[in-house]
Amino acid sequence: GCGICVHKCPFNAITIVNLPEELEEGCVHRYGINAFVLYRLPVVKEGMVVGVLGPNGTGKTTAVKILSGQLIPNLCGNNDNWDNVIKAFRGNELQNYFEKLKKGEIRPIVKPQYVDLIPKAVKGKVRDLLKKADESGKFDEVVKELELENILDREIQQLSGGELQRVAIAAALLRNAHFYFFDEPSSYLDIRQRLRIAKTIRRLAESGKNVLTVEHDLALLDYMSDIIHVVYGKPGAYGIFSQPKSTRNGINEFLRGYLRDENVRFRPFEISFTKKSERKAQEGEILVQYPRLVKDYGSFRLEVEGGELYVGEVVGIVGSNGIGKTTFVKMLAGVEKPTEGEVDWSLTVSYKPQYIKTDYEGTVFDLLSKIDTSKLMSNFYKTELLNPLGIPDLYDRQVNELSGGELQRVAITACLLRDADLYLLDEPSAHLDVEQRLAVSKAIRSLMAKNEKTALIVEHDVMMVDYLSDRLIVFEGEPGKYGRALPPMGMREGMNRFLANIGITFRRDPDTGRPRANKEGSVKDREQKEMGEYYYLS
Ligand code: ADP
Ligand code: ADP
Ligand code: MG
Repeated sequence: GCGICVHKCPFNAITIVNLPEELEEGCVHRYGINAFVLYRLPVVKEGMVVGVLGPNGTGKTTAVKILSGQLIPNLCGNNDNWDNVIKAFRGNELQNYFEKLKKGEIRPIVKPQYVDLIPKAVKGKVRDLLKKADESGKFDEVVKELELENILDREIQQLSGGELQRVAIAAALLRNAHFYFFDEPSSYLDIRQRLRIAKTIRRLAESGKNVLTVEHDLALLDYMSDIIHVVYGKPGAYGIFSQPKSTRNGINEFLRGYLRDENVRFRPFEISFTKKSERKAQEGEILVQYPRLVKDYGSFRLEVEGGELYVGEVVGIVGSNGIGKTTFVKMLAGVEKPTEGEVDWSLTVSYKPQYIKTDYEGTVFDLLSKIDTSKLMSNFYKTELLNPLGIPDLYDRQVNELSGGELQRVAITACLLRDADLYLLDEPSAHLDVEQRLAVSKAIRSLMAKNEKTALIVEHDVMMVDYLSDRLIVFEGEPGKYGRALPPMGMREGMNRFLANIGITFRRDPDTGRPRANKEGSVKDREQKEMGEYYYLS
């Protein structure tokens, strides 16, 4: 046998080199017989941002519950007290941490993963919520830093996802704690906001706090972390925290699927970002030429320059929050009527909205088979879409009991199963882990190419935009006031335009080809800005 089988491995070459006995020593928590098991824990370091990178369902939140004192780990037996935990971690850096945690000398604060749930638990105005959280006296500073000035008098119930995220992060920052945990701080934020909170989180660590963050946006994780742990295993069955690794090396090992120090291959293939050839503007068959469109809400005005879309292409839509991306997509979907211009075409459109509602009563299989049973049975759709997204495992689940990431995958699948000429997906990466993001990107690309259809994807994850798009529609303007959508342009021109607006440069990692944000003011950053090349030179 293979001892422990790692990941859903399609081949027989399942390699896990650690001896099971060695792992048993690191067995931290087991939820029950045949239930999920967590091996090892991340380090907690004063003055550092420790990043955690790994698939959904491998115990990241469980580790946080333990480190924040919400869960006494049972040490895979029937332990129920901290003294045994302290003993079990003797000689380890965590011994001291657990001693202090037990004595109440460490106060942890957690920014939860699902900010969408906050309005259900908390009522009232943003200002009151943040004032209540303000133990540090940094109210004004934090409000400014997270750009919350204009929404202080809004009801929590009225906030968008991105606003809720920033309020939740602000509430955590305002507390006086020792250990700050940010569970997926990037969801619903645009790139500029992501980098801004990354800097804020870094400063928190530099002031001497312990910071642990789980993040699936690799460019952001890279930018924010001092060291990282890779979590690997079999989602839902077990998860193992790797040794701490340098950020660059850890992310590269994760992409390669091989941890060198541990000598473990946990994925049978590598993830690499090879350069795609850029689509030439005059290539291919035109699907549609859309006209100039205007939407005027009074307080917000969007102008869309007309453009053409090609058959078989995937066009990324990038730009700040509140700049009209969703409004544009809704006009194309026929959900919102333009103030000027007209979308009168005979195209059929399939649309996945940004925020997914779940009033459906029934199983995932019921839901999807109502859309198209024959596609569920077809080998083509199984290979290209259903299996890569892990949908068959969800067939018997109730739709209204799915987690955010599960629901996202079902909604994407539902959208792509419908027959249409044009597919519109608004922020498909929210709540998905890295492998799921790549699986979704791949599925979209291959379905569009093979079925000769066209997709427009609103996306903030640079890695995903890079992986997914043939061309880009860039939005410019002033968030909340006015927006302008430029016609579709090539990747290089589009990324340059978009990144110049934010003032950030990217390079490619030489080993894996993944996009890495340059540190502001670094030699590369200055060189690239001078040349006007904000996005990868090589
Ligand atoms: P992650 O944060 O990496 O997505 P979690 O730590 O939330 O993973 O969960 C890991 C696994 O443990 C999941 O399969 C989850 O269903 C399971 N799990 C979480 N909490 C419990 C619990 N209280 N009882 C049983 N299983 C649980
Ligand atoms: P994005 O998708 O780029 O984040 P949206 O298209 O959702 O931006 O919103 C752009 C602006 O239009 C925001 O300021 C938003 O508050 C405003 N807006 C969106 N829908 C409406 C509406 N139905 N009535 C008034 N304003 C709206
Ligand atoms: Mg989690």
